[in-house]
Amino acid sequence: MYMQILKKPDVFLKGPTQNIEIPLSDENKIIIGNMINLMYQNNGIGLAANQVGYNRKIFVMDISNEKNKPQIFINPKIEKRAKEKLTEEEGCLSCPGDLMQVRRPIYVALSWFCEHGKEQYKTFYNFPARVVQHEMDHLDGKLIID
Ligand SMILES: [Zn+2]
Repeated sequence: MYMQILKKPDVFLKGPTQNIEIPLSDENKIIIGNMINLMYQNNGIGLAANQVGYNRKIFVMDISNEKNKPQIFINPKIEKRAKEKLTEEEGCLSCPGDLMQVRRPIYVALSWFCEHGKEQYKTFYNFPARVVQHEMDHLDGKLIID
């Protein structure tokens, strides 16, 4: 399976994404594995499926220093947002060279399914919250430059 990161102004990045079936199909398992590899190859900390040509609600993230703790988010949904917001600089593998000041809630509660098909719920704070919201924006067809 050949996969590459789509860059702006590719219209695919602006389209809607769909929930996927649980348990994961073999195809979706392969897509997720390739997304993790591609994220590491490009020194990214997150990657959404529609950045690599699949309009499916999947994103991967690794915010560990060692880059050995990939987290997989399937059918993610933001359940709660902080009222307090903070502006910080963000980059994006789909917008190379662009660093944007983005204002976001300081925490979000997220529900999702893990790769084993189990439902998860967690509140993310600070930097992880920012990454989660950045990837959720991708799945909603939104880029940092929008
Ligand atoms: Zn991005």
